[in-house]
Amino acid sequence: MSRLIAVSNRVAAPAGGKSAGGLAVGILAALRQSGGIWFGWGGKTCVGEASDARLERHGEITFATIDINETDFDGYYNGYCNSSLWPLFHYMLGIFKYQREHHDAYARVNEVFARKLRPLLRDDDRIWVHDYHLIPMAEELRRAGVNQPIGFFLHVPFPGFDVLRTLPGYRGLLSALAQYDVVGFQTVQDCENFLGALRAAGLGGERAPDGRIVVLNRRILVDAFPIGIDVEEAVEQAETSLRSAAVQRLAQDIGERDLAIGVDRLDYSKGLPERFRAFETLLERHPASHRNIVFLQIASPTRTGVRAYQDIRHELERSAGHINGRFAEPDWTPIRYINRGISRKMLMGYFRLARIGLVTPIRDGMNLVAKEFVAAQDPETPGVLVLSRLAGAAAELGDSAVLVNPYDSIGMADAILKATEMSLEERKERHAAMMQVLRANDIHAWRKRFVDALGN
Ligand code: ADP
Repeated sequence: MSRLIAVSNRVAAPAGGKSAGGLAVGILAALRQSGGIWFGWGGKTCVGEASDARLERHGEITFATIDINETDFDGYYNGYCNSSLWPLFHYMLGIFKYQREHHDAYARVNEVFARKLRPLLRDDDRIWVHDYHLIPMAEELRRAGVNQPIGFFLHVPFPGFDVLRTLPGYRGLLSALAQYDVVGFQTVQDCENFLGALRAAGLGGERAPDGRIVVLNRRILVDAFPIGIDVEEAVEQAETSLRSAAVQRLAQDIGERDLAIGVDRLDYSKGLPERFRAFETLLERHPASHRNIVFLQIASPTRTGVRAYQDIRHELERSAGHINGRFAEPDWTPIRYINRGISRKMLMGYFRLARIGLVTPIRDGMNLVAKEFVAAQDPETPGVLVLSRLAGAAAELGDSAVLVNPYDSIGMADAILKATEMSLEERKERHAAMMQVLRANDIHAWRKRFVDALGN
């Protein structure tokens, strides 16, 4: 079997193994199977030209990391990736920003990535590039003479054409994607958006008799590969973590009340202000719920170098203070807001305690928290997943979760109430159906499907 070369913006620490996030688990599992290289940014910036990749070998896997030029990094990561592409791909034109210099830094970083990867490649390697940071990678590699199969997986949504064309140079992104052999998205809707954009831009997008898509004189495979989680690991972590002192303390504290939980990176796409408002609406409209429900929101700060992220942090602090000020009683605080990350294992224990999982992004490629929440439940007394229709996960779990539109605070308040009142029988039925979906398409099935699509 030929080697796999995984490329992503960040490379997880070699020791990351068990505690690594979903993407890292998938990449590591794929690399362990076929051996290969995980190539990407090592987390450090440099002055001047980046040096060659640092190689660190662990068994079958070589971790290859490079530094990125300090000034380019800011334009590439804070600028083009997270102030242009991220808001654009999440349909948030209100905070979309564009600067030509940022685009140029993005192009340079991708060129450096390709140039530093090139000497590490063998003729029979397969290359798998991840996410919106690295869309031009295949184009750069092709320019450097690389003919090996290259696949791309987009972890975030792909917007409709009318949104995409807000971006100056959007045609460049589309033609860059055409240089891959496989282009994978989270949902069928994302695939449709991509094909629609190719057609609207006059770059092709028709289906050939073999099912491949014709684009710029190439034939590429375009398909949905919804990412999964390591279900068995989540189940085991939830069971063991439930017995830990911290989780037991929370259990005692919550007592007979219902725990509603939200866990997210502190990102405006996660719909946190909307979620807080919905919770306020619940307390406003249903006084009987007072004292009977506690909402725990854990939100870890990210991308603190981007202004919009500083703004949302302040907004949430204000909102939590306002709601607690308005409704709290000496022995009951409705919202507990924690502004930092906590270990995955602990999270699974908290999920298991919770009666309601609030996963209500205003737009999300997939949302792994939705899947982790379901996997962490006790099958005998499962909690209810309240899930946004605008998360990719709704395409898979929509039949059994309680679906909401995150902008509709009364609708969301009603959904939370419905979740607290749902019979055990119905909860068990919904949970079993969702577990079946999660198991059929776990992280290992996901990476196998993608790697198989790349060919052996
Ligand atoms: P995104 O990739 O946009 O952050 P996902 O929900 O798909 O969203 O994946 C997030 C991952 O990070 C999940 O595995 C989740 O458990 C983890 N995570 C999110 N927020 C926190 C937090 N506050 N503390 C610890 N882990 C978190």
